[in-house]
Amino acid sequence: MAAAKTLVESKRKPAEAIYSHVIPAGDYWIHEIRSGQVFRIVDLEGNQAVDTLFYNALETSERYSAIDTIKAQGNIYLTTRSTLRSNLGNPMLTIIADTCGRHDSLGGACATESNQVRYAIDKRHMHACRRSFLLATSAAKWNLTKRDLAPNINFFMNVPVTPEGRLTFEDGISEAGKYVEMRAEMDVICVISNCPQLNNPCNAYNPTPIQVLIWLGPQAQNRSGSTGRP
Ligand SMILES: [Zn+2]
Repeated sequence: MAAAKTLVESKRKPAEAIYSHVIPAGDYWIHEIRSGQVFRIVDLEGNQAVDTLFYNALETSERYSAIDTIKAQGNIYLTTRSTLRSNLGNPMLTIIADTCGRHDSLGGACATESNQVRYAIDKRHMHACRRSFLLATSAAKWNLTKRDLAPNINFFMNVPVTPEGRLTFEDGISEAGKYVEMRAEMDVICVISNCPQLNNPCNAYNPTPIQVLIWLGPQAQNRSGSTGRP
């Protein structure tokens, strides 16, 4: 199976990370990751969908593009060796380790509107990823607005495509402690909505916390006395 070849563990130690943060269940996070730094997302309790967007930190009109990523790698799933590409076709990050084996590029983010259409009109009040993306971006310094929201990655989320070409939201294939790790190929802004969805099995009906960690790249570590830019 192709999935077996993609399961790659990392040698990086959490104690050596320059940044570590736990994003509570249903919460959001926005942070800059410098070129060369290594970014890991840990599914702490298992089966948690992590809706994620990336922007070029120097020019935010350049952002993660599912279409360019899928086209370049000829595969709809993301895993080790996947290059996450921008709408200009440039490499933004490369996945260098993955103990889950498959991440979704097609399912998009949940929204109060889609919850009403898919599930019930009285689901409108429920917390959703699109709202979290808006809260994260509007509170930050990069002047991102709702016009900047694009199709996102769903790390750890299982969205198989049926032989008829339909998407299905299935119970996750991730487990507690599984992680995905990627190297930034440019300075990026990462926006995460730790998905609060309770209407389908993408979070096993139980949203849980995740952890994000950042390590300095090899070049920054070699510069004695330097810890890189803040
Ligand atoms: Zn969601």
